[in-house]
Amino acid sequence: MNHLPSRNKSWPERADAASFYGFTDLPSVHARGAVVLSHGEGPYVLDTDGRRWLDANSGLWNMVAGFDHPGLREAAQAQYARFPGYHALFGRMSDQTVALAERMAELAPFDGGRVFFTNSGSEANDTLIKMLWFLARAEGRPERRKILTRVNAYHGVTLGAASMTGKPYIEQFGLPLPGFLHLTCPHFWREGRERETEADFTARLARELEEVIAREGADTIAAFVAEPVMGAGGVIPPSEGYFQAVQPILKRHGIPFIADEVICGFGRTGTLWGSEGYGFVPDALIASKAMTAGYFPMGAVVLGPDLGDRLTAAAESAEEFPHGFTASGHPVGCAIALKAIDVILNEGLLENVVRLTPRFEAGMATLAGTYPQIGEVRGRGLMGALEVVADRDSKTPYPPELAVSERVANACMDHGLICRPLGQAIVLCPPFILTDAQMDEMFARLDQALAEVFAELPAG
Ligand SMILES: *Cc1c(COP(=O)(O)O)cnc(C)c1O
Repeated sequence: MNHLPSRNKSWPERADAASFYGFTDLPSVHARGAVVLSHGEGPYVLDTDGRRWLDANSGLWNMVAGFDHPGLREAAQAQYARFPGYHALFGRMSDQTVALAERMAELAPFDGGRVFFTNSGSEANDTLIKMLWFLARAEGRPERRKILTRVNAYHGVTLGAASMTGKPYIEQFGLPLPGFLHLTCPHFWREGRERETEADFTARLARELEEVIAREGADTIAAFVAEPVMGAGGVIPPSEGYFQAVQPILKRHGIPFIADEVICGFGRTGTLWGSEGYGFVPDALIASKAMTAGYFPMGAVVLGPDLGDRLTAAAESAEEFPHGFTASGHPVGCAIALKAIDVILNEGLLENVVRLTPRFEAGMATLAGTYPQIGEVRGRGLMGALEVVADRDSKTPYPPELAVSERVANACMDHGLICRPLGQAIVLCPPFILTDAQMDEMFARLDQALAEVFAELPAG
């Protein structure tokens, strides 16, 4: 029960009093107050006091069509008026759910895909794990349960997805669950050894995969799951030839290769799927984020033909696949996703990602040329990161207590720009609708923030 009438408090105070914050740097929010937003215009968001920021993170990678797309709002309103909610279980589902499953199967990088809807990317990853475990038992191989992912991978926060995630904070929950194994992160700049070439590095990671399979036993491994470009781990494209090295090994051992396309899917890297850009076809894929342009919470598992057929057979013999969420395949979410996919593919958004990429890369390269504190610039399409270091040659990071990337993110906020710190990297992943002028504005604001913060830091 609240004892103080909320009208005596500011929005940030009300946020503080009533919220338990997730993924929030509490010292920053205590010092600065929460930002309470009320609306958006194109790629900008506005708070309850009318302050305005260019959101260089597209909300959380997902608001790719901006914050006030009329077509998406109309699609939502029309579907709410027509049929405002239903599940997709017990042999019943909305027409929109069918239409979206068809559309996603059509766009998938393989023929004959089958789609299962969830409400988030995490749930899609947990669903995938349960599918693989269900399949293993149905096929008389109950020991085939282990899941291989990579250090720095981000796959979500539910128990399975968090266990797949390769970030140190999962230990704060006593995770991963048993049988979740993390391979070396394919980040050559950080993980490459002295005098090792990028090709040698890739070969070493492929050998590691072989060794782990030999040690664990191929028949104990249910899948290898990878983001085409790691997102929340700090925007890490794989080393040269990585997927071409890894996929044949997995094939040889009969281990499904699953692409977590939650960030890369629907155009972020300049192709419809990240896997497409890296020249491989996964056995299944996970989608979410841009799938509804962020206008509805939704995720999906898209099974390739082999897994789809085997799972169908397994479910037939058990009479059902006992899994599903109340709002799986929500008709409003599906209507919005159909529209969002149409907007991305047919209103020039994907083309704009491709068109803007050189300007994006040039903007990041200019900052790296200006500031010796930027140790690496990396990315693909409209996802990029600037890695901040105390010393460029030795790649030494600043001590964590200086909270450098938090300071950069806070300084950006002061200059009207939202961008997110991740480890010691600054992540940029603007909406696909950005104009050239807005991109230049993004870099100008970031430049001001960097100049301010770097001037305060001890020399490297
Ligand atoms: C965000 C993300 C998830 C989790 O999605 P939620 O909707 O936040 O549960 C899973 N995988 C990847 C690659 C992501 O970026």
